Amino acid sequence: MERVVVSLDPVFQRIGYERLERPFAATERVIKGLLFDCQMCGQCVLSSTGMSCPMNCPKSLRNGPCSGVREGCFCEVNPDMKCVWVDALNGAARMKLGQIKISVVQPPVDGTLRGSSAWLRVAREKALAKRREAPAPDPGKFAIARTFPQARAAEPATAPLAVEPQAAQHGQAAKELPRGHAAAANAVAAPESMGAGRTTPFQRLKPYDPIVHAPLAPPSGHKSASGLEHTLRKGWFAVTAELNPPDSADPGDVLAAAEPLMNVVDAINATDASGANCHMSSMGISSILSRAGLGVVLQISCRDRNRIAIQGDVLGAAAMGVSNVLCLTGDGVAVGDQPGAKPVFDFDCMSLLSTLRTMRDESKFLSGRRITTPPQVFLGAAENPCIPPYELRADRLAKKVQAGADFIQTNYVFDIGMFERFMARVRDQGMHERVFILAGVGPLPSPKTARWLRANVPGIHIPDSLIRRLEGAAKPADEGKKICIELIRQIREIRGVAGVHLMAYRREHLVGEIIEESGLLKERIAAREAERSRPTDGRGKG
Ligand code: SF4
Repeated sequence: MERVVVSLDPVFQRIGYERLERPFAATERVIKGLLFDCQMCGQCVLSSTGMSCPMNCPKSLRNGPCSGVREGCFCEVNPDMKCVWVDALNGAARMKLGQIKISVVQPPVDGTLRGSSAWLRVAREKALAKRREAPAPDPGKFAIARTFPQARAAEPATAPLAVEPQAAQHGQAAKELPRGHAAAANAVAAPESMGAGRTTPFQRLKPYDPIVHAPLAPPSGHKSASGLEHTLRKGWFAVTAELNPPDSADPGDVLAAAEPLMNVVDAINATDASGANCHMSSMGISSILSRAGLGVVLQISCRDRNRIAIQGDVLGAAAMGVSNVLCLTGDGVAVGDQPGAKPVFDFDCMSLLSTLRTMRDESKFLSGRRITTPPQVFLGAAENPCIPPYELRADRLAKKVQAGADFIQTNYVFDIGMFERFMARVRDQGMHERVFILAGVGPLPSPKTARWLRANVPGIHIPDSLIRRLEGAAKPADEGKKICIELIRQIREIRGVAGVHLMAYRREHLVGEIIEESGLLKERIAAREAERSRPTDGRGKG
């Protein structure tokens, strides 16, 4: 089909592409609608998704499947239908080059193309590419294509051209300041209206001193000034933990929740409305903790904000000292306490990773517009080794690495056999050498909670044997902690695992005990003391 439409380019040019748009779009809607349930996004990726239209995914994922696929490969959001992305993976496995094409990271959908003809766009773009003998000079219209180069090669229509403003291409060069100093120079200069030499209202704020410090520059060979990155690159077994966000506007509540985690973890995850429930924002928590000198992982869910909001948030977070960002697709709104909310899913976790990597490494927004001081952030993603399609979860991790993930935090691991099989697949692909993997663990308080989690929280697998063990225990909560410690010790022995990520919902006080009793605390102290006795290398906080 593609070859036919490309060969018709001279005819299309003579008639005029604009005049052909409506009849082509109508024909495409009927044919592809009947055959593939096509939703006419205008950036067709059917040949890269095993002929399964990803726009039928309730989260509109362009790079699925998500981490909530149910047993039997049913959808997390709509349990009556099969997961669109499991069908896509199966379809791709049957197609020539299908598995290569489905591993390419696709860009987010361009809403302006919805309803337009993808066939005409392919014809026009491929014919144009053929006509160009030499690579065209950069016309400033390839921002998205540059961020997702492989997607453009595989499916020209999927990486639409974006117009980059002239001012951004040729305009003001960044001020001639040493790297990492631009923000500080801007910050200390008070607006003229306030008068030179006067203290700005911001500078009077206590206890934080919010704008006078530029973000720390990354040490050599690092992508960020993150303490977590430092730990991982040193080869020390890292520990991160989740902080339960308060339903409050009091920063003291955040600091109180963080207190048991200080000194025992490398970074604290600030969750972003996890489970689609509203709490203090991850951005607010991250700023408070960064100001307190703690390493933090800013979680970003694609469910609640669009690409404009998220890119701005990452700049803001980096300006406040946040050095780690975890890119998540997010649970569907239906599992939360406000199921009537409008889900956004403008990005998915992979297109978000790619975009943030471009912001960091190329100092550009997705539009192509320049960033004067890029966000130096260590990029993370989540993966779930314990849900279907099991045998393809390592491939999905590899795709996240391709999209830009520097570290991975997994969902809860309660089934060590399943996790070992996953890690074996990860090692077969050599991914354990390209990304730092932290296994998710946590203490289960009771068999009742375990059963509830398994039934109600997407993506949680707890074996029956473990629930029976909790049922048979005199003190189930102590047994849950003991199981968690055993799991950490077993995980510690698996080749390719770089750390653990502790999730102790409303039981942060247990984190320190678990780290200590598992032997990790002793190990951490010894590693740091050994380093302290050597000259420093300029590490910053997380
Ligand atoms: S399970 Fe997830 S990826 Fe699959 S169709 Fe449902 S929302 Fe989309």
